[in-house]
Amino acid sequence: MGARTGKEYKEGLKKAKNPVWANGEKVEDVTTHPAFKNVIDSMAKMYDLQHEKPEKMLYTSPTTGDKVGMTHLHPTSIEDLIKRREAIQEWALSHNGMMGRAPDYLNAEVMAMGMNNDLFAEADPRFAKNARDYYEYVRENDLSLTHTLIHPQVNRAKAQHEQKDASVSLHLVEERSDGIIVDGIRLLATQGAITDETMVFPSTFKKSGELDDPYSLAFAIPNNAPGIKHISREPWDYKDNKWDYPLSSRFEEGDTIVHFDNVFVPWERVFICGNSSICNRAFSETNAVVHMSHQVVSKAIIKTEFILGVALSIMEAIGIDQFQHVKDKGRDIMITLETMRSHLYRAEHNAKLDKYGTMNPDYAALDAARNWFPRIYPSLTEIIRVLCASGLTGIPTEADFANEEIGPILERGLQSANLNGYDRVQLFRLAWDLTASAFGSRQNHYEYYFFGDPVRMGMTYFDNFDKEPYKQRVTDFLIELKK
Ligand SMILES: Cc1cc2nc3c(=O)[nH]c(=O)nc-3n(C[C@H](O)[C@H](O)[C@H](O)COP(=O)(O)OP(=O)(O)OC[C@H]3O[C@@H](n4cnc5c(N)ncnc54)[C@H](O)[C@@H]3O)c2cc1C
Repeated sequence: MGARTGKEYKEGLKKAKNPVWANGEKVEDVTTHPAFKNVIDSMAKMYDLQHEKPEKMLYTSPTTGDKVGMTHLHPTSIEDLIKRREAIQEWALSHNGMMGRAPDYLNAEVMAMGMNNDLFAEADPRFAKNARDYYEYVRENDLSLTHTLIHPQVNRAKAQHEQKDASVSLHLVEERSDGIIVDGIRLLATQGAITDETMVFPSTFKKSGELDDPYSLAFAIPNNAPGIKHISREPWDYKDNKWDYPLSSRFEEGDTIVHFDNVFVPWERVFICGNSSICNRAFSETNAVVHMSHQVVSKAIIKTEFILGVALSIMEAIGIDQFQHVKDKGRDIMITLETMRSHLYRAEHNAKLDKYGTMNPDYAALDAARNWFPRIYPSLTEIIRVLCASGLTGIPTEADFANEEIGPILERGLQSANLNGYDRVQLFRLAWDLTASAFGSRQNHYEYYFFGDPVRMGMTYFDNFDKEPYKQRVTDFLIELKK
């Protein structure tokens, strides 16, 4: 089949009739439902973009000879890594980095786990084959995936088997000759309502012990498999009006809670079954975290460019760009952008081949970036908020401007140094949707948490950093002083 078009992606969702729930009701057709149809359009545009820019977005499948999406590419050279990244950034430009879980994010995970799959074979050789086959299946059918890593937030001081109701979290119920039965709840599936399949993988921040083996699973399952429900949080695409809600009306990905009611997973789709040791090493030993970080940093650059553009447009609109602290704030965003670009450059140009023939970007550069950006991101949107001041709330709607009685008043009172009232308010509504609307607030929260808890990521970063050379240098210096 190869790379899909937007129409094919939508038809797939229509046909699948995935059991999605929103606002207390079962959704009949996500492609026409007001909560999801706009973001589905944005996803469809991404799939179409593959065909509009085939040189950049497609390559020839090594197995079928079909043209498949570049974001599925298994990189075997630095040139491949760069091609892959250029496709990731082309897609990111279509949403200016607002869609964190666009398909390229999990395409990176599936590719890495599929190609670097020895770890899965530790328990059973067929699990490694399953990972490889699943990569090829996703690539050849250009599927969109969501994933659920975390257990419900019941009591974080206890392991899953110690919880007051140990059956809440997704767990293994039974191993059968044809597959496994799983039951329970998993969080938090961004794009759960608008994707084809769900990958269940372990979160590796809190290492599981053997008593948590029944909760230590990795598998992939179609979103319409019997027994699955995707229950959406309140959707924040409030009004089908792109002027009033420039971002929420296009890129509201949604997040779902996933319920598995005794769901059957065939063995061909199982990668880890009841094995906490393998789960704990799943992202690091397959290098999935490396390739996912490459996608994350590439996308973060596009998003930072957009934030810089918004900040500069606001400065110019209300004539504040000559003030010292305003320039300083613009400088902060510019330096963030250049720093992220440098991390990416180092990651790609120091890439090394591994034993599987995969070209892996330099993880030291990516790990620093993925630890730093979640902490810095809220300060970028805070800059926009501070620059806008009252402008962030003085934002009437398009309907207000269209009203004969009040429209002319708004046009006059809300004009700016270089824009008429209507255009100025549209710019400020964009700033609001980026930073302060429900959509904008989630963006802040997403950037902080989506790759895991930054505090625990920071602890791991500290623990894994090779500290000895630095301590030794100081020891040597002190010894020298004594001579
Ligand atoms: C908008 C959004 C989208 C997301 N999308 C996805 C997705 O698509 N798929 C997916 O699987 N996940 C997704 N996540 C979940 C994300 O991976 C988690 O939020 C993240 O890993 C943190 O885990 P948690 O939310 O369970 O926090 P918790 O582990 O419950 O932590 C809550 C608080 O307690 C502290 N804490 C808890 N335990 C410890 C400890 N042992 N040591 C120190 N401090 C601790 C944390 O620092 C934090 O402040 C998403 C999250 C958000 C906010």
